[in-house]
Amino acid sequence: MSDFVSSFMAEVKEKNPHEKEFLQAVEEVAESVARIYDRHPEYRSAKILERIIEPERLIMFRVPWMDDQGDIQINRGFRIEMNSAIGPYKGGLRFHPSVNLSILKFLAFEQVFKNSLTSLPIGGGKGGSDFDPKGKSDNEVMRFCQSFMSELYRHIGPNTDVPAGDIGVGGREIGFLFGQYKKLKNEFTGVLTGKGLKWGGSLIRPEATGYGAVYFAAEMLKTRKETFEGKTCLVSGSGNVAQYTIDKLIDLGGKVVTVSDSSGYVYDEEGINRKKLDYIMELKNLRRSRIHEYTEKYKNAVFTPVNPSADYNPLWNHKADCAFPSATQNEINGNDAKNLLKNGVYVVSEGANMPTTIDGVKHFLDAGILYGPGKAANAGGVAVSGLEMSQNSMRLPWTREEVDNRLQMIMKNIHQTCVEMADRFGTPGNYVNGANIGGFLKVADAMLDQGLV
Ligand code: NDP
Repeated sequence: MSDFVSSFMAEVKEKNPHEKEFLQAVEEVAESVARIYDRHPEYRSAKILERIIEPERLIMFRVPWMDDQGDIQINRGFRIEMNSAIGPYKGGLRFHPSVNLSILKFLAFEQVFKNSLTSLPIGGGKGGSDFDPKGKSDNEVMRFCQSFMSELYRHIGPNTDVPAGDIGVGGREIGFLFGQYKKLKNEFTGVLTGKGLKWGGSLIRPEATGYGAVYFAAEMLKTRKETFEGKTCLVSGSGNVAQYTIDKLIDLGGKVVTVSDSSGYVYDEEGINRKKLDYIMELKNLRRSRIHEYTEKYKNAVFTPVNPSADYNPLWNHKADCAFPSATQNEINGNDAKNLLKNGVYVVSEGANMPTTIDGVKHFLDAGILYGPGKAANAGGVAVSGLEMSQNSMRLPWTREEVDNRLQMIMKNIHQTCVEMADRFGTPGNYVNGANIGGFLKVADAMLDQGLV
């Protein structure tokens, strides 16, 4: 760690002592920005890094609601409006019991760089609640969403802050949130993305993050003149991102052998084909059930429970070529990274946000594999959210092909930016530096132009 990074991080730690995920995300970016500061003292003297790590606004609120038994429940709601230098705040809402300020600040911070990389005019934000939608009835989820929006609506708007989905927030939740916003404001605007197709949503938005992570990996493979044909892939998670990652991998000739949820993972040596993927979608999206049921239908597949506090996750310890972590933060630690490398994995494309620990990232970079960090590889989701905003403003929907073509072009451009920036700042092939530097420069220049605000 350079002197600049260690003294900078010491200050950030002192100010945010209990925010370990946020500190992790900042440290990784600071390492890359140190390279820019060496050549461009104007960013250092304007204290861009010191400013960019402080949210422009942080909103925290009470969310009371009544469960089906008539008991009162109270959750916490948050919205972090991180940076609006290049556009309205944009970023998802996460509903999960683990949600706290550290997790949302890390997500909002990463979002600033990711959104900048898409080259669309969108700033960065993130929000959510410690509410757990698992096991709740539709009515309970609706009452919670209505209560959440009864406060959030004051702070958002199509030109101010445009939330979307994330873990625990899919089409159902976006529908309830949008309905309540519309009722309170008496206006039909593109204030949320990920909307239903019949009321302002964009084609390809549900698919975008997973498809984008695969398109990004395909671009990385192209640098070695390779394709997905015949490659074995490990995928974690079984939610939105995992499902459409598998979908696109099947399209492009890859063989996916794993899928998981927070209780464990399924290994299917024969590969997950389209019929099996349809079953996963039914299981997770309609029946809201657990992934181990897959092995009741497909008897050759094996389910292994995973203990989150174990030294390593056995999902990452299978022979494969590619890995697509698509569940949650820090799901690949140093041991998992070593196992992946030992088993022949040389392509990692992160559908999830910050799924690899700092130690794990170091192993990937030292090994010189094709490693696409989340803020570049999973930017397809927010990119199509940006396209949904454009369609809403024009009140004109685009076709599936048009949106998919734009998504492919955006992922190609992000890949190109990463490669060029990594080269220009002396670390060829390092997509982490490439993404951090590429994302930083655009926001930093906008902040310089706009003065000390
Ligand atoms: P979903 O809620 O649809 O699915 C999340 C999946 O990850 C589920 O299989 C869930 O299992 C699993 N999971 C969640 N938390 C944990 C945990 N602590 N340990 C193990 N498994 C866990 O979310 P998404 O697919 O939308 O999001 C997945 C990741 O992708 C997140 O990191 C998110 O931030 C990131 N992302 C999502 C985007 C989007 O457009 N949706 C855009 C960019 C990034 P279970 O069912 O047991 O909870």
